[in-house]
Amino acid sequence: MKANLVLLPGDGIGPEIVSEAQRVLEKVAELFGHEFSFSSQLIGGISIDKTGDPLPQETIDACKASDAILLGAVGGPKWDDPSAKTRPEAGLLKIRKELGLFANLRPIRLFDQLVDSSPLKRDIIEGTDILFFRELTGGIYFGESGRSGSGQDETAFQSMAYSVREVERIVRMAAKAAQQRDNRLTSVDKANVLEPSRLWRQTAARVMAEEFPDVQYDVVLVDAMAMHLINRPRDFDVVVTGNLFGDILTDEASMLPGSLGMLPSASLGSDGPGLYEPIHGSAPDIAGQELANPLATILAAAMLLRHSLSLLDEATAIENAVAAVLADGLRTKDIARGGKHIGTKEMGAAVVERLQ
Ligand code: ATP
Ligand code: MG
Repeated sequence: MKANLVLLPGDGIGPEIVSEAQRVLEKVAELFGHEFSFSSQLIGGISIDKTGDPLPQETIDACKASDAILLGAVGGPKWDDPSAKTRPEAGLLKIRKELGLFANLRPIRLFDQLVDSSPLKRDIIEGTDILFFRELTGGIYFGESGRSGSGQDETAFQSMAYSVREVERIVRMAAKAAQQRDNRLTSVDKANVLEPSRLWRQTAARVMAEEFPDVQYDVVLVDAMAMHLINRPRDFDVVVTGNLFGDILTDEASMLPGSLGMLPSASLGSDGPGLYEPIHGSAPDIAGQELANPLATILAAAMLLRHSLSLLDEATAIENAVAAVLADGLRTKDIARGGKHIGTKEMGAAVVERLQ
């Protein structure tokens, strides 16, 4: 297959980790007989420095014309001045909006070899493999807000709204992903208290009954889910939830594996290209020192193959190569727990070498 991929290296460790992921994608293309073309574009702080704009029109156009986008990270102390008229993060928010990316996917997979990095005990965490779908463009974060009154009576409000259309599209996306995995979907809401959650629950149940009768489906309240993630994370396969609950639960879940450097994410819309990136930031403290772990970005490249290009075997091949590297004891410093560690480029090369 031919695919046109945009790379957005960004700031800090972004360029280092994206170039390792590119090497991995190039090797996959060679092994499986695909043609991937790469176009590197500006975003974030480096883009402000070069063009005055964190997201130039040229980047937007290239992204829209692409099959998928791989992003490193944006931001850093150089652009942290609160009085600055534009910030690197604005570029990221804008590209998500331009592309209509309404679903944020976060896999929480614990590689066997890193079980001991988890804050949880082995018998609870071993084998954990959850895929979260967080709704990204609706809900309370985008609800009407305001203030009234003054002094002790000053009151602020923010409303939470979800439409049937918004719930349907993300539940469908999550259910389709479940069919490619363990065929189980859990929807998380607060339907005992919140009206939008009642609409969410009702809509999700209908979509699942009508369109996905084969998928094992259940619902869990968000407060209970916060507990289950700690005491029985293995029981979940695909989880779908709204913007606010998803924000909190995915951050909670991202601590389970014990290292930020291993976790990828994706943002998807109905059609058009998806955006893939590590969940960690630009880590300016370690930039340019061969200390960055490229595995989260390499795993984001695997997600890109699976979700945007439907290249399932190729995606699995990358994930297996990462597991093989870890099994061989190779570690970047963030996951080394003392002992010997290797650098960013060596880690990328090790994954490339084990691809088959
Ligand atoms: P954000 O940019 O989302 O605000 P942040 O600046 O709070 O995030 P990160 O940039 O994600 O935090 O990094 C926090 C710390 O974790 C970094 O300072 C770095 O030491 C470490 N870290 C993050 N990502 C990696 C990585 N890929 N490899 C090694 N260490 C990392
Ligand atoms: Mg940061």
